[in-house]
Amino acid sequence: MSNKVKAHYDILIVGGGMVGSTLACALAETGLQIAVIEKYIPGEIQPNDQYDLRVSAISHSSQNVFRHLGVWDGIEKRRCSAYEKMHVWDTQASGMGEGEVIFDAADNGVKELGHIIENRVIQLALLERINQHHNIDLISGQSVSQIQYVPEASQIILEDGTEISCRLLVGADGANSAVRQSVDIELDIAEYDQKGIVAVVTPEKHHQLTAWQRFLPTGPLAFLPLSNGQCSIVWSADSVEADRIMQLDDETFCTELSHAFDTKLGLVNSASERAAFPLIRRHANSYVKEGLALVGDAAHTIHPLAGQGVNLGLMDAASLAEVISQAKTYRRDFGSLHTLRKYERWRRGENQLMMFSMSGFKNLFGNDNRLLSKIRNFGLSLVQKTNVVKSTLMNRAMGFEGDLPKMARDSFE
Ligand SMILES: Cc1cc2nc3c(=O)[nH]c(=O)nc-3n(C[C@H](O)[C@H](O)[C@H](O)COP(=O)(O)OP(=O)(O)OC[C@H]3O[C@@H](n4cnc5c(N)ncnc54)[C@H](O)[C@@H]3O)c2cc1C
Repeated sequence: MSNKVKAHYDILIVGGGMVGSTLACALAETGLQIAVIEKYIPGEIQPNDQYDLRVSAISHSSQNVFRHLGVWDGIEKRRCSAYEKMHVWDTQASGMGEGEVIFDAADNGVKELGHIIENRVIQLALLERINQHHNIDLISGQSVSQIQYVPEASQIILEDGTEISCRLLVGADGANSAVRQSVDIELDIAEYDQKGIVAVVTPEKHHQLTAWQRFLPTGPLAFLPLSNGQCSIVWSADSVEADRIMQLDDETFCTELSHAFDTKLGLVNSASERAAFPLIRRHANSYVKEGLALVGDAAHTIHPLAGQGVNLGLMDAASLAEVISQAKTYRRDFGSLHTLRKYERWRRGENQLMMFSMSGFKNLFGNDNRLLSKIRNFGLSLVQKTNVVKSTLMNRAMGFEGDLPKMARDSFE
């Protein structure tokens, strides 16, 4: 833990995960005094380490944010995997035809569609950058044990009893955010009654730098390409089915996985340990209060089928930093409700749109109704044949659509 804990900070960020750490780096140039409290700092990646189970598909706009913050080099020097194509298909067991669409970076004049990166790599690169900023203190190795929200200056108490106050308290502490709970901000919740099973697998054939996704009636199954030729999988299934899959021995798991995946990459030869995460859509009724803001999973969680969760959170972080920085330039109170509402208005609509699209996708694809099956197969085939629609969808997947914060844009210097 850093030994330079001050009694008061301008901004106190609870949670130094991918989103909280990005926010801290994005605020560095404001000159404000910032602290990030993170209870768990992961160990450094070693060259021969197995790939972690938790990875994220990072969009171009998120990559722009990391580049701008001087974090991308720290990611690349550890490890990350570019993917050039995305292959999405829907083959129903009932034999109602096949729809597929293939997105290719070359069609949009870009080198890659995005990168698959371990969450730990992103966090480590960000924490390394935080340590280079004199106005940011990383307080690590212990939790926040008490939060007392006061509009003008909230106070938190660490596990060791240290008391810290701040003008702006930010909850970047994930889906079960203690900051959000401390102010009774309510959540809209939709339980999908599904779990996402993650593992690292070795298929017979090389992944061809392609992110593969098959829509099954029980949920989507993604194979994400890793730089060593393996794939990171996210297999979403109804909870009962997911529990059954989790119980399978390794050999049966590999066989079932190969067939669920249409053996697109041949048989799956081996698989790592597995982990399962309940999939829940949550949206906070409010992102801000006077002197308080929520970012990332603390404000919203979505179905992982389009791999957008952390990308939305990173856009929250960049947008909040932009709003705070503007307030500072015009000598306005960066913690006032008036200032913070700009952030909320900006991000709520964007996040809501993505959440509804993902739920719509899930309902459309997670259904073996004959009519819906025909519609989606027709839709996928149409997208494949219609360049304008394809290009628009590709832009959205790369994170180029919507009202982007400046540091997420290609043109930002
Ligand atoms: C199966 C699955 C697959 C996914 N795949 C993708 C993908 O491909 N692409 C994508 O964009 N998103 C994906 N997501 C979503 C993504 O993982 C999350 O959106 C992202 O991790 C949220 O980041 P965060 O920093 O907001 O929260 P978190 O990652 O939850 O980080 C919160 C941090 O706060 C710390 N913390 C919490 N409480 C305290 C406390 N009291 N004191 C101190 N520290 C505290 C925690 O230790 C943690 O480091 C996936 C999610 C799942 C479940």
